[in-house]
Amino acid sequence: MRKIIKIDESRCDGCGICAEACHEGAIIVEDGKAKLVSETYCDGLGDCIGECPQGAISFEMREAAAYDEAAVKARTSAEKASSSEDKLPCGCPGSMAKELKSAKSDPQRQKEAAMQESELTNWPVQLKLVPVQAPYLAGAHLLIAADCTAFACPNFHRDLLADKVCLVGCPKLDEVEPYIDKLVQIIKLHGIEEIDVAYMEVPCCGGLVRLVEEAVAKSGTSVTLKLVKLALNGKFLEVRQIFPS
Ligand code: SF4
Ligand code: SF4
Repeated sequence: MRKIIKIDESRCDGCGICAEACHEGAIIVEDGKAKLVSETYCDGLGDCIGECPQGAISFEMREAAAYDEAAVKARTSAEKASSSEDKLPCGCPGSMAKELKSAKSDPQRQKEAAMQESELTNWPVQLKLVPVQAPYLAGAHLLIAADCTAFACPNFHRDLLADKVCLVGCPKLDEVEPYIDKLVQIIKLHGIEEIDVAYMEVPCCGGLVRLVEEAVAKSGTSVTLKLVKLALNGKFLEVRQIFPS
């Protein structure tokens, strides 16, 4: 019998914060849910517990294989060796270099792309720069997009942006708190009722969803949220509508 972590998948939203917090590399996010890789990797100290914004991780006492420090070291050094060239010093999985499909297109596709018109109706688009009072925000259907989505999604304008006012930012590289405050003001001042959030599949990008949810909750108004999760190849992995109370 020993103390080991327990993950409540019904609460887990797959943000990956626990996986980043776990020094032992005992947690991975698979199919949108955190999972314990192996009992032998969990030291039972619970670095991940305080980090989970959903309260999805707790301790339990149960029969479990003993913590194996040597196995953890072997695994982490093997991972470091295989990925040291691909990762930034922060070690974030979202920073891992990957080669995607070639960007080359056939001449017909290039011609079609050249004929597409921009759906952008507002400027600036950076959430950091958009003035709270901007007139184009009045009653707008907002698209709040993670910076990288515009590069990943081949038809960003047609599939995500059309008929919306666009605000973009990065939940990993930007300061999040001022964005929450600004969004609360925008929602209340302009009677925002619909927000689409487009974000990348990498765990850190889920922070954009959390910041928008927090802003909606703080605004105290009823806003329909549509969440669009994009794969690195630009495909829609998940489209989900939620109605926060
Ligand atoms: S930190 Fe995120 S991924 Fe980990 S258990 Fe909590 S909700 Fe799930
Ligand atoms: S958090 Fe999202 S927008 Fe920021 S770098 Fe990562 S994928 Fe791009």
